[in-house]
Amino acid sequence: MRRKQEVIQRSAHSVVLNDVRRVYGRGNSSVVALDGVSIGFARGSFTAVMGPSGSGKSTFLHCAAGLDQPTSGTVSIDDQPLAGLSERRLTELRRERIGFVFQSFNLLPALTVWQNVTLPQELDGRRTNRAAVREVLERVGLGDKYKSRPGELSGGQQQRVAIARALVARPAVIFADEPTGALDTQTAADVLELLREPVHTQGQTVVMVTHDPVAASYADQVVFLADGALAGSMLAPTAEQVADRLTHLGARAARLAAVR
Ligand code: ADP
Repeated sequence: MRRKQEVIQRSAHSVVLNDVRRVYGRGNSSVVALDGVSIGFARGSFTAVMGPSGSGKSTFLHCAAGLDQPTSGTVSIDDQPLAGLSERRLTELRRERIGFVFQSFNLLPALTVWQNVTLPQELDGRRTNRAAVREVLERVGLGDKYKSRPGELSGGQQQRVAIARALVARPAVIFADEPTGALDTQTAADVLELLREPVHTQGQTVVMVTHDPVAASYADQVVFLADGALAGSMLAPTAEQVADRLTHLGARAARLAAVR
């Protein structure tokens, strides 16, 4: 009964940032990396976060994923406010509800594909659901590579292992940081399709930082950051529209830098 109520009360957003500020350093040398960002990411949505270099994208992703703490403001993931959680609870929450995909794959070279995918669950002391691992490896096209080690795989295959690892625990949200940055165009397209698929079939939420307009065009919406603040959004983006908006934001950032 209680469980049913919890399900009913789940909010429409799996990630919510409310007036998040992140200031690095103190005094004269302090840098305001995020300047009061408020945004919610709907369940079952795929969002790309874009902006000129230094606009706060990495800081945004780290704060949203509970890897860094805002100086002020709040972040909730899957209806759980992160503020005040012990480091241990935060680690548990990240393992249970968040998947990560990084540009550099972050696989352990000594472990097999299977071991890399199941490692987070092992670390958590949870029993591996072998059927779920097999299913997710099939889904990313690596069903026959489960005994391989990362060094025996191409870059695209390694990123697919990382995506399988992120998907297997069925997290509420996947944060991806330049997931296609190290891949060629065709491989990048395959990886983006794999990221997009569970959004629509399983209601997962994906938040992806990228500087690539083509990658961003796979998302349902793009949100733009400039100078640590939200600077608009775009639904059903095309690569051309995104590139155009980025050019304008970049020019504005350069003008602002020049007058400082
Ligand atoms: P982006 O990912 O868009 O390039 P970042 O989030 O990395 O932007 O950086 C936003 C601003 O915060 C930049 O001015 C950057 O120099 C500054 N910054 C980022 N990390 C640190 C840090 N650890 N210490 C001091 N300043 C930082």
